[in-house]
Amino acid sequence: MGTVKQNLGKRVKKARMAVTFAAIVKRNRLNQPTVVRLPATKGTHNEVIIGRSGNLMTTECRKDIGRGFDYCKGQVQTVCYHAMAAIIVVAAEAGYDVRFTANKEDAINLTNLGGKFFEIRPSHKRYDPATAVFAVVFSKGEK
Ligand SMILES: [Zn+2]
Repeated sequence: MGTVKQNLGKRVKKARMAVTFAAIVKRNRLNQPTVVRLPATKGTHNEVIIGRSGNLMTTECRKDIGRGFDYCKGQVQTVCYHAMAAIIVVAAEAGYDVRFTANKEDAINLTNLGGKFFEIRPSHKRYDPATAVFAVVFSKGEK
C-alpha cells in the first residue's frame, strides 16, 4: 500500500504528459464526456470510461488490442495514470485545473483555498481509501 501512494507524483507527471494527445470520444445525454481515448505504446491506445455519482468518479481503463480490449493492469491496485489523464481532460474542458492527492485529508485541506473535492477510484473497487485517489478541481486561474 505504501508504494502505491508513493508513486502518485510519478503517475501525475505521466498523466499530464498523456493529456496532450487525449481525445474525448463519447458523451452522455448531459453532454458530459464518458469515454476518453489516450495513445499508448506501439500505435495502440487506451480508453478510460468515466462514471459520476456526486463527488465520486469511477474509472475503468482498458487497452485496445485491435481485436477487443484488455484490462489495464495499472488499475489493479489504484487509479492508473491513464484514468488520471482522462480526469484532467474532462476537467480542462469544463474550465478546471486538477490537483491530485493521495489522501482525503489533503484534498479537503486544499478545498479551503476554493475548489471542489472528488474521490476517484477504479470502477471494480469497493470503497477503500487505500486504493482511491483524491482530487480537487479549481476554476482555471483560481488557486
Ligand atoms: Zn490504464
